[in-house]
Amino acid sequence: MLVIDHPRELPLATDSPPRVLVPTMGALHDGHLALIRKAREIAGREGQVAVSIFVNPIQFDCDDDFERYPRPLDADLASCRAAGVDLVFAPSAAAMYFLDRSVRVLESSLSQTLCGASRPGHFDGVCTVVLKLFNLLQPRAAIFGAKDFQQLAIVRRMVRDLDVPVEIVEHPTLREPDGLAMSSRNVRLTAAQRADAPRLRRALLAGRDTAAAVGSPAAARDAAREILDVPGLAIDYLEAVDLATLAPVADLARPAALAAAVCYGEVRLIDHIDLPVSS
Ligand code: AMP
Repeated sequence: MLVIDHPRELPLATDSPPRVLVPTMGALHDGHLALIRKAREIAGREGQVAVSIFVNPIQFDCDDDFERYPRPLDADLASCRAAGVDLVFAPSAAAMYFLDRSVRVLESSLSQTLCGASRPGHFDGVCTVVLKLFNLLQPRAAIFGAKDFQQLAIVRRMVRDLDVPVEIVEHPTLREPDGLAMSSRNVRLTAAQRADAPRLRRALLAGRDTAAAVGSPAAARDAAREILDVPGLAIDYLEAVDLATLAPVADLARPAALAAAVCYGEVRLIDHIDLPVSS
């Protein structure tokens, strides 16, 4: 396995066999490893699976969250080696960004709601780093998790609008046995918060069941809110949105999702669930 920490040292990709990229911020868990297996499936035995590990400073709106983001690089490299990864790109922020950089990618529609509304500039930072990673590593395909469905939609929009020659592949969310979506941030929860955290999934399931019964996104939100409304948990957003536009919906005539971000103290968790279309 090749480990590269500077953009200018990356080996050029060949078109055949292809390189498939899994972009991550590290602190790898089974969700990331599932994406890596998918990458191998697409790349084939002869192809190259590349993983980027980079805690991207320009997508954090809060310095504290950036500083506290877990960075177990040695364990991550061991996981990548065991998973058969061919190339790890783990640059420093100084190697990735010029001090006087003045160009970034700005998405102006899908990023107006949900995480984009509560974390200003977040998706500009995501788009900018993803485009840089695509340009540096030149993958034929890249795998993204459905857990971050707004990120996935925005990356797809960027690739479409800017004609980026990379196929974007979606992978379903992996969950802990109790339903909590796997996340690098879960390790920052206290034992009590971790025990309570499956509440988020339960709330979204209750919202979906309510939507199925009464066909109303507002009722779905209310049902979920009732479960999330407990001491120690702050709701950042809880919204039913159109899956194509990510705009809030007033009915369920088109595919929609109920999405939430909640905070246990400083630790922010996100999840979502598809809502049934009303006939
Ligand atoms: P992150 O390291 O959190 O930036 O995530 C890197 C990639 O892994 C993103 O495409 C995420 O959507 C994906 N990912 C994170 N958690 C999960 C999960 N529980 N299941 C599937 N994919 C995930």
